[in-house]
Amino acid sequence: MTDLKVVVAGAGGRMGAAVIAAIAATPGLSLHAALDRQDSPVAGKDVGQLAGLPPLAIPVTCDSEAALAGADALIDFTAPTVSVLLAELAAPRGLVHVIGTTGMTAEEDWSIAKAGQAGARIVKSGNFSLGVNVLAGLVRQASRMLAEYDIEIVETHHNRKVDAPSGTALLLGQAAAEGRDIDLDRNSVRGRDGHTGARPNGTIGFASLRGGTVVGDHTVLLAGPSERIELTHRAENRSIFAHGALHAALWANNQPPGLYGMADVLGFSR
Ligand code: NAD
Repeated sequence: MTDLKVVVAGAGGRMGAAVIAAIAATPGLSLHAALDRQDSPVAGKDVGQLAGLPPLAIPVTCDSEAALAGADALIDFTAPTVSVLLAELAAPRGLVHVIGTTGMTAEEDWSIAKAGQAGARIVKSGNFSLGVNVLAGLVRQASRMLAEYDIEIVETHHNRKVDAPSGTALLLGQAAAEGRDIDLDRNSVRGRDGHTGARPNGTIGFASLRGGTVVGDHTVLLAGPSERIELTHRAENRSIFAHGALHAALWANNQPPGLYGMADVLGFSR
């Protein structure tokens, strides 16, 4: 069987480097091209150098159309507006498009879903690690069983992260909301400051901390009368997301066009 030819978008980023290294270590995949923005300091550099590998004779390009020509899959950890544009390019080509970018608006999410109907096989997730997706299942179950407990989600990330709450915090919030059969958007409290009044019953609170080089820590707190449960995941390095994204690409290659999540890839029933 021939290798799945993969384009990495955001090749000069923290996740881009992790994905390039993971492709080199994964049978059945080969790096087809590497994309970054036009004014990126890594433009024109050999991708091997970015990921601490020997030279791969693939220079980082900013030409999306040329990069996607002849490719099978696109792994995309960039920025919301970039992922929307890439989805519009991936759909007519019937590509597998794995989207790890977080911080999308509802409108951007809608544009991605539309691309899924237009021919792309998209896997989009706020977190591609196995551990976090198992945690989401536990959160769904705990929030259903402890229906009266207050739920707060606390996340910590490195000081370069630009969106809050993290995509993972929102994914865990969504799992908690599903466990309670409520709408997350209508029941979220995003940060508190000043005279906030008492905590409204049934809400799901979010708090974001930023500092240093933390890859990603998430705790879901369920607080009830005289007791608390804390469900925590700590990412130790980015390889867990990179390997999950590649696993998703191989899985999606055998699926019909559509928009999928990691629960589909991992075969988790809700
Ligand atoms: P980063 O800033 O290190 O990397 C982003 C890269 O995208 C940069 O190299 C940037 O130059 C590039 N980029 C910007 N515009 C571009 C364009 N037009 N074309 C191609 N490339 C372009 O960020 P990061 O830490 O690698 O994270 C990237 C995204 O992935 C963020 O949204 C982050 O929250 C998310 N993330 C998701 C997961 C997950 O499992 N879903 C895990 C980690 C990070």
